[in-house]
Amino acid sequence: MSRRNGEKNMQRQPGGRVVIIKKKTAVITAAIVIAIVLAASAIWTAERPELPAMSYVIAGQVIAVDAGHGGVDPGASRDGLEEKDITLAISKKLVRYLNQAGAQAVNLRTGDDDLCGDNFKGKIRERKRRDLALRVEKAKNAKADLYISIHTNADLSPRWSGAQTFYKAGQEESKRTAIAIQDELIRILGNNNREAKTGSYYILNKAPMPIVIVEVGFLSNPREAQLMVSDEYQDKIAYAIFSGIIKSYLPEEKSSNKLK
Ligand SMILES: [Zn+2]
Repeated sequence: MSRRNGEKNMQRQPGGRVVIIKKKTAVITAAIVIAIVLAASAIWTAERPELPAMSYVIAGQVIAVDAGHGGVDPGASRDGLEEKDITLAISKKLVRYLNQAGAQAVNLRTGDDDLCGDNFKGKIRERKRRDLALRVEKAKNAKADLYISIHTNADLSPRWSGAQTFYKAGQEESKRTAIAIQDELIRILGNNNREAKTGSYYILNKAPMPIVIVEVGFLSNPREAQLMVSDEYQDKIAYAIFSGIIKSYLPEEKSSNKLK
């Protein structure tokens, strides 16, 4: 609309003014385009916002995406649903979003297996520890700037629900990213008043780069479990994590009051 007004104004002006108005119009048009892109990204709709327009901030960033568990380790399970399948599906979607936006996403697990290989002879507990160590190693070798570990939560009670992020106490980069992802999970998935929390987990303690664990929901909550196995909801989760990563890289997010 404003573009049309701008053209109208230009016609009325004598020669010298045209250039100035043209420039002004271009600036206003650009501002409106940016505003529309940002507004579109603020609402989840079937039509995706133009990703490249908002993603220059993560271009070239190496981001390790870790689908929790795998192979002999199913993670949490309820009524035939297993954590390892949900985390794998979401991680693949997240990798796709990140790569589309120009990041170099490294998927630490791409199939239904852990990283120990067939020849590992240790007990299941040793295998699990080795698997986690290998994941961190793989992220280090890839020179990852950020590590995103995807899990589902579970509790004895079916009443708890909601996605939640975790970071290591004292790691400001991780905290900023965890808060940004948490905000996006709440905005896009809704129905959640959880906050990014500190945690002490092997992978948080061992990874040398900024790292966030995303517990995408509770498998012990029947309603949420059903959502988490649907392709559409998995896509929403992946997009929320992606959007949170983008926002954590934006300058205004870095000076946000929430981080003080
Ligand atoms: Zn897990």
